[in-house]
Amino acid sequence: MSAKNTLQLCRRWPRYLMETDLRQLPIMDTDVLVLGSGVAGLTAAIEASQSGRVFVACKGLVRDSASDRAQGGIAAAWSGADSFEAHAADTMRAGCGLCHHQVVRFVVDRAPEEIRFLESLGAHFDMHNSRLDLGREGGHCARRIIHAGGDATGAEIMRTLLARAIHNPYIYLRENCFAIDLLTAGRRVVGALLRLAQCGLVVVRARVVILATGGAAALYRDHTHPPGSTGDGLAMALRAGAALRDLEMVQFHPTVFHDKGGGAFLISEALRGEGALLRDADGVRFMAEYDERAELAPRDIVCRAIYDRLRRSLSPDVFLDVRHLDPAHLAARFPSITYHLSDNGINPARQLIPVRPAAHYTIGGVSTDLDARTNLDGLLACGEVASTGLHGANRLASNSLLEGLVFGRQAGMTAAADLAGPTEPWAEPNCRMTRALAGDPKRIRQLRDQLGDIVQSGVGIEREIGLLQLTLDQLLRDEDAVLHHRYTTAAAWETQGLWMLAVCTTMSAAWRRESRGAHFRTDYPESDDARWPVHSRIMLTAEGVVLNAEPVPAITGQPIACQGKSPRENNHRAISN
Ligand SMILES: Cc1cc2nc3c(=O)[nH]c(=O)nc-3n(C[C@H](O)[C@H](O)[C@H](O)COP(=O)(O)OP(=O)(O)OC[C@H]3O[C@@H](n4cnc5c(N)ncnc54)[C@H](O)[C@@H]3O)c2cc1C
Repeated sequence: MSAKNTLQLCRRWPRYLMETDLRQLPIMDTDVLVLGSGVAGLTAAIEASQSGRVFVACKGLVRDSASDRAQGGIAAAWSGADSFEAHAADTMRAGCGLCHHQVVRFVVDRAPEEIRFLESLGAHFDMHNSRLDLGREGGHCARRIIHAGGDATGAEIMRTLLARAIHNPYIYLRENCFAIDLLTAGRRVVGALLRLAQCGLVVVRARVVILATGGAAALYRDHTHPPGSTGDGLAMALRAGAALRDLEMVQFHPTVFHDKGGGAFLISEALRGEGALLRDADGVRFMAEYDERAELAPRDIVCRAIYDRLRRSLSPDVFLDVRHLDPAHLAARFPSITYHLSDNGINPARQLIPVRPAAHYTIGGVSTDLDARTNLDGLLACGEVASTGLHGANRLASNSLLEGLVFGRQAGMTAAADLAGPTEPWAEPNCRMTRALAGDPKRIRQLRDQLGDIVQSGVGIEREIGLLQLTLDQLLRDEDAVLHHRYTTAAAWETQGLWMLAVCTTMSAAWRRESRGAHFRTDYPESDDARWPVHSRIMLTAEGVVLNAEPVPAITGQPIACQGKSPRENNHRAISN
C-alpha cells in the first residue's frame, strides 16, 4: 500500500456479464426503472409513480425479500421521553466516526413522518393502551422501536407497500425478472439488461434507474437473509463504474438460531431488550465481562464476546435464556420466534435457546448523496444496496428499514425532478458482442458452494492480514473460471457478482489497518483516529480495481431543518416507559 493509502489490483474485469448485440433484443421503455421490490424499491416506485411510468423488476417473488423478514421494527424518536438528538447521537455513536451527521439528521428527523405515511396506507403497528408500543434494542438509549405483529414488522410494511403498488396503474411490477447489468452510454446509465421468465433477454430503456437490490449477506455461508441477497446490484454498479464504499463493514447478528434443516433464523435483539440473557455452555452469564451495557451492547461487541466464548468452549453455540420472563408476554410479543422455536422442539419457557452469530447486514454499498444520487448520471440507489452515510462503521439496530423508507422516498423524488427536466434521445449503450468461452455450469456451482466458506473464514467477525492475503489468493485462483467465461443462468451471474464482491470486501478489510465498528482486526485491535477516520472507496477502472480513502464530511453543527413533527408533538401517542 502506498503512502496515499491506495490499494490497487491490476486486473481486467469484464464490463458486462452477458455481452450481446442489444439491437437483436426486444426493447421495453419506461420513465423510471426500479431494480428490486423490497421496502426501498417499493417506496421509491410509489413516490416516482406520481411523475411517470415505473417498471419494477424483482428477481424472484416479491415476498422473498429481506424486508419481508425484518422482525424487530423501525426506529423513530416518537415518545415525549425521546428526541431526534438522542436518536441521532445513538446512531453516530454506533457508527464510530464514519457517519455523515447531515445524513443522520436527515433520516432520524423524518422517521415519525414515515411511520405516519405507512399508517396512512393502512399499516397496523402494535399498540399498548391506545399508544404505539415502543420496544428497546441494543445501542438505543430510549424505547423507540415501532413494531408490528409482535416480531413481523417487515411483513406488515411489505403487505402495506405492495397493496399500494399493485393497484397503482403507473407501476408495472414484474416478478421473476433478473437484472443482469446496467447499460451505460459514457457516464450515463440508460437502462438495464434483464432476463424475464418466459420472455428471455430484454433491454429496458429508462430515463432514471433506481437500484434497490438489497445487500450481499449471501457472501457468507451463515447468514440471516433470503438466498437472493447476493449483492447483484452492488456488483453491477461496480461494473458500470459506480463507487462502492466501506465494503469491509459487514454487520453480524449475534443471536441466530440454526434449525434442524440447516436454515438460519434470527432471534431478534428485541428479545434481549425485553430481558433475555446470554449464557455460555457452562451456564455463565458473560456479557457484563465484555461491556457495561451487557446484553444491550452494540451488535459488534456482543458478536465478538460470543465468538470469544465459543473459541474457549467446545460448544458450537451460546444460549439465550428467557426462562425468567413471562411466557405469555413473550408468546404475544414474539409470535414468529416462539412458533419457529417450538417447530424445532424448543420451549423457551423451560429450555435455553442455542444461538451463534451470522452475517446480517451489508453496511457498505453504492456511494450516494442526500438526493440518493450515485457518481453515475441517471443512477440512484437506496436501501441496503446504498451507502448513504447513515450507518458509518456500524448500523444501529432498526435503522435500516427507516433508511429504506426515507431514501426510497428521496430516490422517487429525485427521479421525479429528473423527469421534469428536458428529455434527451436515448443514447445507444456501449455493449459489444464478445467471444468468451462457454463456462462449465458444474464448476461455477462448485465455486458458489466454496465461496461462502472462504469468505466466512477469511473475512469474518475477526480479521488478520495473513488470513486476508490467503483469502485473496484463494479467490484469485478461480478468476479465470468465474469471470472470463460466459454463463447463461441467474445462479451463475449471482456467483460472478459475489466473487467480485468477495475480492473487493477482502481488499477493503486488508486496506483498513485498524479496528472500527463492525471491522475488527486482531493485528490492529485499536481504532486509529489519526489515520483512519475515513471511508474506503473502491472502483473498477481501466487500471483495475482501485481502492482509496474518502474523507468523512465534517460535522457542520447545522442540523437539517426538520420536516417531521418533533417527538413532543407525538405526545398524544407517547408511552411513559
Ligand atoms: C431476518 C432479518 C431481520 C431484520 N430485522 C430488521 C429490523 O427489525 N429492523 C430493521 O430496520 N432492519 C431489519 N433487517 C434489515 C432490513 O430488513 C433490510 O436491511 C432491508 O429490508 C433492506 O431493504 P431493501 O429494500 O434495500 O432490500 P431487500 O428487502 O433485500 O429487497 C431487495 C430486492 O431486490 C431484488 N433483487 C436483488 N437482485 C436483483 C436482481 N439481480 N434483479 C432483480 N431484482 C433483484 C430482490 O428480489 C428484492 O426484491 C432485517 C433483516 C433480516 C434478514
